[in-house]
Amino acid sequence: MSDDTTPPPRGAVNGGAGTIWRWLDQAPDAVAVTGPDGQVTYRELHRRVEDLAAVLRGHGVGPGVPVGLCVERTTGMLVAMLAVWAAGGAYVPLDPAFPAERLRMMRQDAGIGLVLTQAGVDPALLDGVPAVLTLSPGGRPLNGAFTSAPLLAADMERLAYLMFTSGSTGRPKGVAVPHRAVANLLEAFAELLPIGPEDRWLAVTTLSFDISVLELLLPLFTGGRVVIAATGEVSDGWALRERALAEGVTIMQATPAGWRILLESGGIPAAIRTRLCGGEALPRDLADALLADGADVWNVYGPTETTVWSTAGRVRPGPEAVDLGSPIRRTAVHLLDENGTPVADGEIGEVHIGGAGVARGYHGLPGQTAARFLPDPYAGTPGARMYATGDLARVTPAGRLEYLGRADQQVKIHGFRIELGEIEATLRAAAEVKDAAVAVRDGRLVAYLVPRAQAVDWAALRERLRASLPDYMIPVRHTTLTSLPLTPNGKLDRGALPSPSWTRPGTAAFRAPVTTVESDLAEIWAEVLGATEPIGADDDFFELGGHSLAAMQLIARVQAKYGLEVPILVLFEHPTIAGFAARLDDMDDADLSLADVAALRDQLDGLSAEELQGLFDDPAAGS
Ligand code: AMP
Repeated sequence: MSDDTTPPPRGAVNGGAGTIWRWLDQAPDAVAVTGPDGQVTYRELHRRVEDLAAVLRGHGVGPGVPVGLCVERTTGMLVAMLAVWAAGGAYVPLDPAFPAERLRMMRQDAGIGLVLTQAGVDPALLDGVPAVLTLSPGGRPLNGAFTSAPLLAADMERLAYLMFTSGSTGRPKGVAVPHRAVANLLEAFAELLPIGPEDRWLAVTTLSFDISVLELLLPLFTGGRVVIAATGEVSDGWALRERALAEGVTIMQATPAGWRILLESGGIPAAIRTRLCGGEALPRDLADALLADGADVWNVYGPTETTVWSTAGRVRPGPEAVDLGSPIRRTAVHLLDENGTPVADGEIGEVHIGGAGVARGYHGLPGQTAARFLPDPYAGTPGARMYATGDLARVTPAGRLEYLGRADQQVKIHGFRIELGEIEATLRAAAEVKDAAVAVRDGRLVAYLVPRAQAVDWAALRERLRASLPDYMIPVRHTTLTSLPLTPNGKLDRGALPSPSWTRPGTAAFRAPVTTVESDLAEIWAEVLGATEPIGADDDFFELGGHSLAAMQLIARVQAKYGLEVPILVLFEHPTIAGFAARLDDMDDADLSLADVAALRDQLDGLSAEELQGLFDDPAAGS
């Protein structure tokens, strides 16, 4: 293995990402990445990547070989990803937050024989994997032999990653993305954004969402620094804010839900001057909040199938809806009608995307690939394809590309892409369910069930869903119907599905909140869950339909109300209002009671700037 004085061999990260090493000569001792485990310079990052790549080659990793990444959020996560590329392989994110059964399906479909993991990951998630290589937090292999195998020539068409997304047939599907597409993305955003060696980018996205590619690689591509937020920070707006402040972060990308959580958790640090928002439509009120301190805000749009983002637009203040901006370099957007003919300006069409970002297709699914990756007659290159996104848009009279929703049953919840058909297929597979439909109501997933004979035990069914679906795909409510509403030609009439009223599941007897803090918490619980009936002091947040994202919102609101730092774990350990309130009281070491703190905060919120100043000048005046 190389030592401190010998520069490691160059050019081993194949395809587009090879170019990230151009900063190795210019600033080898600059910090490339920081994580909860410490910081790593460009020189050291390159060395670790080469060392791990050599071990991977010894495991038979080469062009096109898929390698699973089931890792923690440390600097080693980046080392692992780059080392798979340096060995010529393609990485496949296996999110440790996903159920074991889903990870098994993904491994099987991708044909994965080797998985890289770390000590903090539950080994049960990897049961049955032929080869598992455990890495230190910094990405050093703890087992496995070093082999020196020949380096590969760069190949832009080589597979870079397989990214699994929800599949309407009931099984996730892997999008196969080549290096060419990644390289184009990096070139495009390096040109678009004001980003350079002085920038620090806070990486907050799970590897299993493709936008992580941009936040992990663009800072290296432009000589800056990636700041990897720890798992605990990613799910806690206040902790994330602290991290951003401590590291002097200047740029960040998030979904609208992610930005809202930061806004609710003490606000976005002013030093984050460049803010990218994507993954879901950017509402005007959020755009205005992101713009409020004069920051540079971008709305970015694109599906996994065309590699992270395909359009980008600088968001301007103003009353009009936020538009999608323009296609990035070497990318074309066409709005087509059902016959594949371009629509006139102002007419609604389906967004078709062609160009350098188009993926190879769905791994091992030629039928589904052919249905969505169509011949591109506009490219002028034989064999070129464009992807039919299922998104609807139009060009406004002012020439702006406006997003108008979906043509199918794909939805986004907190930025997560979900095919309602996948949840429906999983529900229908349950013996007690004759038929099922899933819809989104008030931003939450609702299941409509037609039971076979006996009534459905919803709590038990939800538990079974958890075995194969990630948390964010579990419906939070359900309604039982005798049959699903149908259109005259026998299809599910989604518009006729009733709006379910929120009913308290009867697992615990209702006991009204007693203390002021319990009542305050019941109010916050109800807001976050969209509850329309009172919530009892012994009700369990998660049984009421709370999921991890709702938990993040709840924690942000509790922290804002009481000025207390509350780790999200507290909610998982004390999921009832009574239990949570008691724990909050224990955590509070101030002389004032929590209820007094909240009352004082409400009172202060209502004061004008002059009145507040008066309080400081004469503290007695406020009492
Ligand atoms: P994903 O493959 O998870 O990136 O999801 C892609 C889908 O998310 C797109 O087809 C759109 O439906 C939606 N999407 C992504 N970005 C935006 C955006 N900026 N505005 C509206 N919808 C978006």
